[in-house]
Amino acid sequence: MSAKENQETLGFQTEVKQLLDLMIHSLYSNREIFLRELISNASDAEDKLRFEALKNDELYEKDADLKIKIEFNKDLKTITVVDNGIGMSREEVIENLGTIAKSGTKEFFDSLTGDQTKDSQLIGQFGVGFYSCFIVAKKVEVITRRAGEDRANGVHWVSEGESEYTIEIVDKPKRGTKVILHLRDDAEEFLDSFKLKNIITKYSDHISFPINMDKDDESSDEEKDVTGEDTVNSATAIWTRNKKDINDDEYNEFYKHIAHDFEDPIAYAHNKVEGKLEYTSLLYLPSRAPFDLWDREQRHGVKLYIRRIFIMDDAKQLLPSWLRFVKGVVDSDDLPLNISREILQQNKVVDSIRSGCTKKIISLLKTMTKDEEKYQGFWKIFGKVLKEGVVDTQDYKEDLSFLFRFSSTHEDTEEQKVSLKDYVDRMQEGQNSIYYVIADSYMMAKSSPHLEIFKKKGIEVLILSDPIDEWVTSHLTEFDGKAFQSVNKGELDLGDIQSEDDKNKRKKNSKANDELVERIKGVMSEKVKDVRITERLTTSPACLVSDSNDMGRHLEQILQASGQTVPDSKPILEINPDHPIVKKIGSEKDNALFNDWSHILFDQALLSEGGQLTDPVGFINKLNSMIIAMSK
Ligand code: ADP
Ligand code: MG
Repeated sequence: MSAKENQETLGFQTEVKQLLDLMIHSLYSNREIFLRELISNASDAEDKLRFEALKNDELYEKDADLKIKIEFNKDLKTITVVDNGIGMSREEVIENLGTIAKSGTKEFFDSLTGDQTKDSQLIGQFGVGFYSCFIVAKKVEVITRRAGEDRANGVHWVSEGESEYTIEIVDKPKRGTKVILHLRDDAEEFLDSFKLKNIITKYSDHISFPINMDKDDESSDEEKDVTGEDTVNSATAIWTRNKKDINDDEYNEFYKHIAHDFEDPIAYAHNKVEGKLEYTSLLYLPSRAPFDLWDREQRHGVKLYIRRIFIMDDAKQLLPSWLRFVKGVVDSDDLPLNISREILQQNKVVDSIRSGCTKKIISLLKTMTKDEEKYQGFWKIFGKVLKEGVVDTQDYKEDLSFLFRFSSTHEDTEEQKVSLKDYVDRMQEGQNSIYYVIADSYMMAKSSPHLEIFKKKGIEVLILSDPIDEWVTSHLTEFDGKAFQSVNKGELDLGDIQSEDDKNKRKKNSKANDELVERIKGVMSEKVKDVRITERLTTSPACLVSDSNDMGRHLEQILQASGQTVPDSKPILEINPDHPIVKKIGSEKDNALFNDWSHILFDQALLSEGGQLTDPVGFINKLNSMIIAMSK
């Protein structure tokens, strides 16, 4: 059979075509990263082989000396990256080098604008991977064979980075993968041993396998090993090295390798635990959100190693799900090499590692709060996820409450900048509670009638508008001995901030308006649980509040939206007797008009907190007839 008969031409997935096109045009200023990506893949492949060989050491095919080799040929204008890792079968080649499997891919491509400058920033965030070799290559060949397969089952993949590639079964005596880049004319600068070595030390020094190059005249004798190759990198797992000897750049490059990220992390913690339990963790906080932060299937970012051997990616058990954005490595000395995901779930060692790592991250975050601006960078992206922590467990409630940030009536910004400690520190004399308002959005909360009295008295109210906040406040019930109190739930208790005068006025008010309250209750009983004189309002005529034991309208809406049945709880209508409209209603003799007025009051109050009218047209008709009646 001739080579051509054996060869198939296949099309790239649409997203791959888009990615290739974007990459070639937008990553032009940082072309050298192609090498980092190829070495990163080679290293992953060596890791996978070593792991699979734990169960079946035939996969080594009598060669357990795992290494990566970089070659170049000035005449052919090629750079070649060779590994003796796990390799790929034909199906795997098609899957891995013809499609993008990353979750969030669709969202990523949907977010592209067509504006090249904007999109080139986006692509940096997406992470590039294998396809980045087309930044410097006009043609790429991959020759690979999966470890343990017959040598006749090698696969030869070729593409010019346009819309298709060819694939062919070939003979490949050695397992592993060889990637051959045929450089573009303008990329010939990379055909230089000094340059390549520089790039390797810059980006890939932390790779724990030796990265070799053929020896040449520029290297010193000590560096040369017996085979006539130089090892260019330090080839030790970075987390096993002493903290003192590792600089930020090295930490950052390792992060990019394991996180498949393009940007530096915002912070990291490297920690060696010794004693009864021995493990090392190197954990990072990314500086941007992954595309799948809200995807339930999102991969967690911690890799598990056992005694330096890679065991698995995505080791969910090593951190709680509210820290799913953390990336890094845990290397344990105590776990058995044959551990499975199932065993991880019920293993005491793993439990201790998880709580150790959780505490590490919390303390890393606490340290970060000393630089509030930096911490804001973190909070903006991951705050919502971190909030899940108090809903998930009681264990870190106190620690987490120090890390939370909220927007507030005392800050002129939607950004969440106020800590509970800030709030408590500036509480007014006599104030016993931490007041908060829950709303669909910051803007809505800002103008909520429920805040009127607080504004008048200068009392700070936290503005909670993340969907999870309703749950957060039901779990986080106090801070520093001060209870949380919703401004739109239950009777308003301003504690000792309320003056005797206020209290007396209220009593008088409620007496004088008993009759009005009863009259409104009579016509509104279908819609409200109770009617009472308000203490919250200064400028609006009415507002709705929920009973202290009721769920709260906001949470009801969320539950309803998720298809759950919610017990029907009617709100309480509070009216402001000092408001001209309420005064007018009080003096209304005509029962039909009184009825209309009462409904208008209720509907207004509902609208002002973002509620939906059951009969909007009815509301408008009533309002219009009132306007007409009044202008006569
Ligand atoms: P990522 O490394 O983030 O998964 P890449 O685009 O870099 O994405 O690589 C895609 C996939 O191709 C890898 O996940 C791996 O399965 C496969 N692959 C790439 N290079 C190699 C290699 N040298 N050996 C084995 N598999 C490889
Ligand atoms: Mg990769």
